[in-house]
Amino acid sequence: MKPTHIEHIGIAVTNLEESIEYYENILGLKCYSIEEVKDQKVRTAFFQVGDTKIELLESTSDDGPIGKFITKKGPGMHHIAFAVENATEALQDAEKKGIRLIDKVSRKGAESLNIGFLHPKSTNGVLTELCSK
Ligand code: ZN
Repeated sequence: MKPTHIEHIGIAVTNLEESIEYYENILGLKCYSIEEVKDQKVRTAFFQVGDTKIELLESTSDDGPIGKFITKKGPGMHHIAFAVENATEALQDAEKKGIRLIDKVSRKGAESLNIGFLHPKSTNGVLTELCSK
């Protein structure tokens, strides 16, 4: 696996609209997309910063992954996503090297990217996403 850049940084928020205001009014970024990802029980908002995006994640359900994260840790940085050539191959490559996976093969995430997660227990505590077009 050889990531080309940080595709996005995922940030868990309690209120998407209020958080968008901060990124627009204080940081001067422009939200270009709001999208609901039903199987992840989240609404997402995206900002482009160079090659990298900020992905805000608001839970639509307390029992979804972001809902649980916020209950346990509060809002804040949730994951880092690296762009790779082929997310499924990158996941399998990591597994061969002994990394615990959350996703064995990639699935469709926001922006129709193929995504998969490495388990934070294997990645120095950082939930790590691999994504490809
Ligand atoms: Zn993500």
